[in-house]
Amino acid sequence: MSAAEHERTVSETAVTADTLLRASLLPALEARVLLMHVLGWRRTELITRGERPLEAAQVDAYRALEARRAQGEPIAQLVGAREFYGLDFDVTPDVLIPRPETELLVETALAAMEGLAQPRVLDLGTGSGAIAVAIASARPDARVWAVDRSEAALQVAARNAAKLLDARRPGGALTFVAASWYDALDAALRFEVIVSNPPYIASGDPHLAQGDLRFEPRGALTDEADGLKALRAIVAGAPAHLAPGGMLWMEHGYDQAAAVRALLEAQGFSDVESREDLAGIERISGGRWA
Ligand code: GLN
Repeated sequence: MSAAEHERTVSETAVTADTLLRASLLPALEARVLLMHVLGWRRTELITRGERPLEAAQVDAYRALEARRAQGEPIAQLVGAREFYGLDFDVTPDVLIPRPETELLVETALAAMEGLAQPRVLDLGTGSGAIAVAIASARPDARVWAVDRSEAALQVAARNAAKLLDARRPGGALTFVAASWYDALDAALRFEVIVSNPPYIASGDPHLAQGDLRFEPRGALTDEADGLKALRAIVAGAPAHLAPGGMLWMEHGYDQAAAVRALLEAQGFSDVESREDLAGIERISGGRWA
Protein backbone atom coordinates (compact mmCIF):
# COMPACT_ATOMS: atom_id res chain seq x y z
CA MET A 1 0.00 0.00 0.00
CA SER A 2 1.08 3.57 -0.53
CA ALA A 3 2.47 5.67 2.29
CA ALA A 4 -0.68 7.78 2.27
CA GLU A 5 -2.89 4.70 2.49
CA HIS A 6 -0.76 3.30 5.29
CA GLU A 7 -1.04 6.52 7.24
CA ARG A 8 -4.79 6.56 6.83
CA THR A 9 -5.08 2.98 8.10
CA VAL A 10 -2.97 3.78 11.15
CA SER A 11 -5.01 6.84 12.01
CA GLU A 12 -8.25 4.94 11.48
CA THR A 13 -7.26 2.15 13.83
CA ALA A 14 -5.34 4.19 16.38
CA VAL A 15 -6.88 4.41 19.82
CA THR A 16 -7.85 7.96 20.69
CA ALA A 17 -9.63 9.63 23.58
CA ASP A 18 -12.75 9.68 21.44
CA THR A 19 -12.67 5.97 20.70
CA LEU A 20 -11.98 5.09 24.36
CA LEU A 21 -14.89 7.22 25.53
CA ARG A 22 -17.23 5.84 22.88
CA ALA A 23 -16.33 2.26 23.78
CA SER A 24 -16.56 2.73 27.54
CA LEU A 25 -19.31 0.98 29.46
CA LEU A 26 -18.92 3.48 32.31
CA PRO A 27 -21.19 6.50 32.67
CA ALA A 28 -19.78 9.16 30.31
CA LEU A 29 -18.77 11.55 33.08
CA GLU A 30 -16.83 8.85 34.94
CA ALA A 31 -15.01 7.75 31.81
CA ARG A 32 -14.02 11.36 31.09
CA VAL A 33 -12.75 11.94 34.63
CA LEU A 34 -10.59 8.80 34.53
CA LEU A 35 -9.24 9.61 31.09
CA MET A 36 -8.40 13.20 32.04
CA HIS A 37 -6.57 11.80 35.07
CA VAL A 38 -4.52 9.33 33.01
CA LEU A 39 -3.68 11.83 30.30
CA GLY A 40 -3.24 14.84 32.57
CA TRP A 41 -5.65 16.72 30.32
CA ARG A 42 -8.32 19.27 31.09
CA ARG A 43 -11.86 18.97 29.83
CA THR A 44 -11.16 21.26 26.88
CA GLU A 45 -8.19 19.15 25.81
CA LEU A 46 -10.43 16.10 25.78
CA ILE A 47 -12.34 17.88 23.03
CA THR A 48 -9.50 19.54 21.11
CA ARG A 49 -7.21 16.47 21.23
CA GLY A 50 -9.94 13.86 21.06
CA GLU A 51 -8.78 12.44 17.73
CA ARG A 52 -5.06 12.21 18.48
CA PRO A 53 -3.62 8.71 18.66
CA LEU A 54 -2.67 7.86 22.25
CA GLU A 55 0.40 5.98 23.42
CA ALA A 56 -0.11 2.32 24.27
CA ALA A 57 0.89 2.96 27.91
CA GLN A 58 -1.79 5.63 28.21
CA VAL A 59 -4.41 3.33 26.78
CA ASP A 60 -3.36 0.51 29.12
CA ALA A 61 -3.42 2.83 32.13
CA TYR A 62 -6.90 4.04 31.25
CA ARG A 63 -8.23 0.55 30.66
CA ALA A 64 -6.84 -0.60 34.02
CA LEU A 65 -8.65 2.20 35.86
CA GLU A 66 -11.80 1.59 33.87
CA ALA A 67 -11.78 -2.07 34.90
CA ARG A 68 -11.27 -1.16 38.55
CA ARG A 69 -14.12 1.34 38.38
CA ALA A 70 -16.31 -1.34 36.82
CA GLN A 71 -15.56 -3.44 39.95
CA GLY A 72 -16.87 -0.58 42.07
CA GLU A 73 -13.75 1.24 43.28
CA PRO A 74 -14.61 4.87 44.02
CA ILE A 75 -13.58 7.46 41.43
CA ALA A 76 -11.97 9.58 44.18
CA GLN A 77 -9.66 6.71 45.12
CA LEU A 78 -8.82 5.90 41.50
CA VAL A 79 -7.76 9.47 40.78
CA GLY A 80 -6.50 10.04 44.36
CA ALA A 81 -8.39 13.28 44.81
CA ARG A 82 -11.75 14.86 45.58
CA GLU A 83 -12.79 18.49 45.56
CA PHE A 84 -14.28 19.76 48.83
CA TYR A 85 -15.13 23.35 49.72
CA GLY A 86 -13.30 24.50 46.58
CA LEU A 87 -10.07 22.74 47.57
CA ASP A 88 -8.47 19.74 45.91
CA PHE A 89 -7.93 17.11 48.62
CA ASP A 90 -5.73 14.04 48.30
CA VAL A 91 -7.76 10.91 48.98
CA THR A 92 -6.55 7.37 49.71
CA PRO A 93 -8.31 4.19 50.85
CA ASP A 94 -7.28 5.17 54.41
CA VAL A 95 -9.79 8.03 54.60
CA LEU A 96 -13.47 8.71 54.10
CA ILE A 97 -14.06 10.41 50.77
CA PRO A 98 -15.19 13.99 51.48
CA ARG A 99 -18.93 14.42 50.76
CA PRO A 100 -20.55 17.60 49.48
CA GLU A 101 -23.12 17.61 52.31
CA THR A 102 -20.27 17.94 54.81
CA GLU A 103 -19.63 21.45 53.48
CA LEU A 104 -22.66 22.43 55.60
CA LEU A 105 -20.63 21.55 58.71
CA VAL A 106 -17.78 23.80 57.51
CA GLU A 107 -20.14 26.70 56.73
CA THR A 108 -21.85 26.37 60.10
CA ALA A 109 -18.55 26.22 61.98
CA LEU A 110 -17.31 29.29 60.13
CA ALA A 111 -20.51 31.17 61.01
CA ALA A 112 -20.05 30.19 64.68
CA MET A 113 -16.53 31.69 64.58
CA GLU A 114 -17.61 35.00 63.11
CA GLY A 115 -16.45 37.94 65.20
CA LEU A 116 -14.03 35.80 67.21
CA ALA A 117 -10.33 36.59 66.83
CA GLN A 118 -7.98 33.60 66.55
CA PRO A 119 -10.67 31.07 67.43
CA ARG A 120 -9.55 27.63 68.58
CA VAL A 121 -11.19 24.87 66.58
CA LEU A 122 -11.17 21.11 67.15
CA ASP A 123 -12.01 18.58 64.41
CA LEU A 124 -12.63 15.10 65.83
CA GLY A 125 -12.04 12.22 63.40
CA THR A 126 -10.47 14.41 60.76
CA GLY A 127 -9.81 11.69 58.16
CA SER A 128 -8.55 13.41 55.01
CA GLY A 129 -8.50 16.68 56.96
CA ALA A 130 -11.25 18.07 54.73
CA ILE A 131 -13.15 19.88 57.50
CA ALA A 132 -10.10 21.10 59.43
CA VAL A 133 -8.24 22.29 56.33
CA ALA A 134 -11.31 23.96 54.80
CA ILE A 135 -11.90 25.89 58.04
CA ALA A 136 -8.22 26.81 58.36
CA SER A 137 -8.17 27.94 54.74
CA ALA A 138 -11.24 30.18 55.16
CA ARG A 139 -10.04 31.49 58.53
CA PRO A 140 -6.25 31.90 58.37
CA ASP A 141 -6.22 33.21 61.96
CA ALA A 142 -7.95 30.15 63.42
CA ARG A 143 -5.88 27.73 65.48
CA VAL A 144 -6.98 24.28 64.41
CA TRP A 145 -6.49 20.90 66.06
CA ALA A 146 -7.25 17.76 64.05
CA VAL A 147 -7.67 14.42 65.82
CA ASP A 148 -7.84 10.93 64.37
CA ARG A 149 -7.03 7.55 65.86
CA SER A 150 -5.82 6.37 62.43
CA GLU A 151 -2.15 7.24 61.84
CA ALA A 152 -2.62 6.53 58.15
CA ALA A 153 -5.46 9.03 57.97
CA LEU A 154 -3.44 11.65 59.82
CA GLN A 155 -0.69 11.31 57.22
CA VAL A 156 -3.20 12.08 54.48
CA ALA A 157 -4.57 15.02 56.49
CA ALA A 158 -1.08 16.40 57.10
CA ARG A 159 -0.30 16.12 53.40
CA ASN A 160 -3.49 18.00 52.55
CA ALA A 161 -2.71 20.72 55.10
CA ALA A 162 0.80 21.13 53.68
CA LYS A 163 -0.54 21.26 50.14
CA LEU A 164 -3.55 23.52 50.67
CA LEU A 165 -2.67 25.94 53.48
CA ASP A 166 -0.33 28.90 53.55
CA ALA A 167 2.55 27.79 55.79
CA ARG A 168 2.74 31.31 57.22
CA ARG A 169 -0.95 31.60 58.08
CA PRO A 170 -1.41 33.61 61.29
CA GLY A 171 -3.11 30.68 63.02
CA GLY A 172 0.02 28.62 62.46
CA ALA A 173 0.27 25.02 61.33
CA LEU A 174 -2.52 22.60 62.18
CA THR A 175 -1.92 20.47 65.25
CA PHE A 176 -2.45 16.78 64.52
CA VAL A 177 -3.26 14.43 67.37
CA ALA A 178 -3.29 10.63 67.04
CA ALA A 179 -5.88 9.53 69.56
CA SER A 180 -9.48 8.59 70.14
CA TRP A 181 -11.69 11.68 70.43
CA TYR A 182 -10.57 13.87 73.39
CA ASP A 183 -8.20 11.32 74.97
CA ALA A 184 -4.86 12.99 74.18
CA LEU A 185 -5.83 16.66 74.37
CA ASP A 186 -4.25 18.97 76.93
CA ALA A 187 -6.84 19.17 79.72
CA ALA A 188 -6.45 22.95 79.93
CA LEU A 189 -7.24 23.54 76.24
CA ARG A 190 -10.62 25.11 75.52
CA PHE A 191 -12.15 25.42 72.05
CA GLU A 192 -14.56 27.97 70.67
CA VAL A 193 -15.81 25.41 68.15
CA ILE A 194 -15.73 21.62 68.07
CA VAL A 195 -16.78 19.89 64.85
CA SER A 196 -16.98 16.26 63.87
CA ASN A 197 -18.14 14.00 61.09
CA PRO A 198 -17.83 10.76 63.05
CA PRO A 199 -18.76 7.22 62.03
CA TYR A 200 -22.53 7.19 62.42
CA ILE A 201 -23.75 4.24 60.36
CA ALA A 202 -25.12 1.36 62.46
CA SER A 203 -23.11 -1.85 62.21
CA GLY A 204 -25.85 -3.81 60.46
CA ASP A 205 -26.75 -1.13 57.91
CA PRO A 206 -26.88 -2.69 54.42
CA HIS A 207 -25.39 0.52 52.91
CA LEU A 208 -21.99 -0.57 54.27
CA ALA A 209 -22.00 -3.32 51.64
CA GLN A 210 -22.95 -0.97 48.78
CA GLY A 211 -21.27 1.51 46.45
CA ASP A 212 -18.23 3.53 47.51
CA LEU A 213 -18.69 2.54 51.16
CA ARG A 214 -17.33 -0.96 50.44
CA PHE A 215 -13.95 0.59 49.68
CA GLU A 216 -13.79 3.21 52.43
CA PRO A 217 -12.32 2.54 55.89
CA ARG A 218 -15.01 0.79 57.91
CA GLY A 219 -13.87 2.62 61.04
CA ALA A 220 -14.73 5.95 59.41
CA LEU A 221 -18.26 4.79 58.58
CA THR A 222 -19.64 2.70 61.41
CA ASP A 223 -19.30 2.75 65.19
CA GLU A 224 -19.91 -1.04 65.13
CA ALA A 225 -22.94 -0.29 67.31
CA ASP A 226 -26.25 1.56 66.91
CA GLY A 227 -24.80 4.48 64.92
CA LEU A 228 -24.95 6.88 67.88
CA LYS A 229 -22.02 5.55 69.89
CA ALA A 230 -19.42 7.98 68.53
CA LEU A 231 -21.89 10.88 68.60
CA ARG A 232 -22.65 10.08 72.28
CA ALA A 233 -18.95 10.06 73.18
CA ILE A 234 -18.37 13.37 71.39
CA VAL A 235 -21.32 15.05 73.12
CA ALA A 236 -20.34 13.64 76.53
CA GLY A 237 -16.75 14.86 76.28
CA ALA A 238 -17.44 18.28 74.79
CA PRO A 239 -18.27 20.29 77.96
CA ALA A 240 -14.79 19.68 79.39
CA HIS A 241 -13.19 21.05 76.23
CA LEU A 242 -15.44 23.93 75.15
CA ALA A 243 -14.78 27.55 76.05
CA PRO A 244 -17.73 29.34 77.67
CA GLY A 245 -20.23 29.97 74.88
CA GLY A 246 -18.41 27.53 72.60
CA MET A 247 -20.33 25.45 70.07
CA LEU A 248 -20.34 21.79 69.14
CA TRP A 249 -21.57 20.79 65.67
CA MET A 250 -21.76 17.22 64.39
CA GLU A 251 -22.76 15.57 61.14
CA HIS A 252 -25.07 12.57 61.47
CA GLY A 253 -27.30 10.22 59.50
CA TYR A 254 -30.54 11.23 57.81
CA ASP A 255 -32.65 9.79 60.64
CA GLN A 256 -30.52 10.72 63.65
CA ALA A 257 -31.22 14.46 64.10
CA ALA A 258 -33.82 14.09 66.87
CA ALA A 259 -31.64 11.60 68.73
CA VAL A 260 -28.58 13.89 68.53
CA ARG A 261 -30.59 16.93 69.67
CA ALA A 262 -31.80 14.85 72.62
CA LEU A 263 -28.19 13.94 73.49
CA LEU A 264 -27.17 17.61 73.39
CA GLU A 265 -30.13 18.70 75.50
CA ALA A 266 -29.58 15.94 78.07
CA GLN A 267 -25.94 17.06 78.34
CA GLY A 268 -27.05 20.61 79.13
CA PHE A 269 -26.36 22.36 75.82
CA SER A 270 -28.43 25.42 74.90
CA ASP A 271 -29.47 26.72 71.45
CA VAL A 272 -29.74 23.12 70.26
CA GLU A 273 -30.75 22.87 66.62
CA SER A 274 -30.36 20.87 63.41
CA ARG A 275 -29.71 22.16 59.90
CA GLU A 276 -30.71 20.70 56.57
CA ASP A 277 -28.34 19.92 53.74
CA LEU A 278 -29.11 20.81 50.11
CA ALA A 279 -31.20 17.66 49.80
CA GLY A 280 -33.46 18.91 52.62
CA ILE A 281 -32.17 16.29 55.08
CA GLU A 282 -31.38 17.28 58.68
CA ARG A 283 -27.66 16.56 58.35
CA ILE A 284 -25.97 18.35 61.24
CA SER A 285 -26.95 19.18 64.80
CA GLY A 286 -25.29 21.37 67.36
CA GLY A 287 -25.57 23.45 70.47
CA ARG A 288 -23.87 26.00 72.67
CA TRP A 289 -22.10 25.37 75.96
CA ALA A 290 -23.07 28.29 78.16
N1 GLN B 1 -22.11 10.28 54.85
C1 GLN B 1 -21.54 8.98 54.76
C2 GLN B 1 -22.47 8.07 54.03
O1 GLN B 1 -23.56 7.82 54.47
C3 GLN B 1 -21.21 8.42 56.12
C4 GLN B 1 -20.13 9.18 56.75
C5 GLN B 1 -20.02 8.92 58.21
O2 GLN B 1 -20.38 7.89 58.74
N2 GLN B 1 -19.51 9.88 58.86
O3 GLN B 1 -22.14 7.63 52.96
